[in-house]
Amino acid sequence: VYPLSNLSVVLLHEEMLDKNGKVVITSLTLNDIGDLSRSCRTYGVNTLFIAHPSAAQQKLARRLEYHWEQGFGATYNVTRKDAFAIVKIVPNLDEAILHIEFKTRELPKLIATSARPGENRVSFGELASIFRNSPSPHLLMLGSGWGMSEKLLARADYVLEPIICTEDFNHLSVRSAGAVMLDRLSAA
Ligand code: SAM
Repeated sequence: VYPLSNLSVVLLHEEMLDKNGKVVITSLTLNDIGDLSRSCRTYGVNTLFIAHPSAAQQKLARRLEYHWEQGFGATYNVTRKDAFAIVKIVPNLDEAILHIEFKTRELPKLIATSARPGENRVSFGELASIFRNSPSPHLLMLGSGWGMSEKLLARADYVLEPIICTEDFNHLSVRSAGAVMLDRLSAA
């Protein structure tokens, strides 16, 4: 059992903010899928969900998945095929939750993430200790665009502290933020 084997990750595109603070649906970024799947597979994460409400965007994600799992890419790059094995494409957060509940018979605890500091943030150390002491499933929510709406943040059981190392800049790509989080959570 790896430290993060009860953890799943979901990359969300619905209920995101745009640069003016309006709630929008963002587009898929294909690099996020391949890079996050490699990070999640490396750190022993259970499942990486890619959630998008648009059927066309789901189809695009499935085409990418097919290419690396069964198409030309499967023999061209075997490690990428291995990483894609933990990816699941779903329409929304609730489907990801249902999927985990079906597998584990338990509702996962939701962990939201944000680059913004705020009240009641759980630290990486606290969360790592929760993982060590509980066999319950957890779902780490990653955002896109300008981050998650207040409504989405309010659904979470925990909001994770932001990654901050310098005073004036902490705007990571979601795929980099995801990798840093997994490393901190498994090493803390
Ligand atoms: N300002 C946005 C926010 O409040 O999260 C940045 C959005 S960022 C492009 C997309 C996602 O990457 C965020 O929803 C979060 O999951 C993650 N992210 C990016 N930088 C981060 C940081 N410094 N700390 C924690 N999460 C970060």
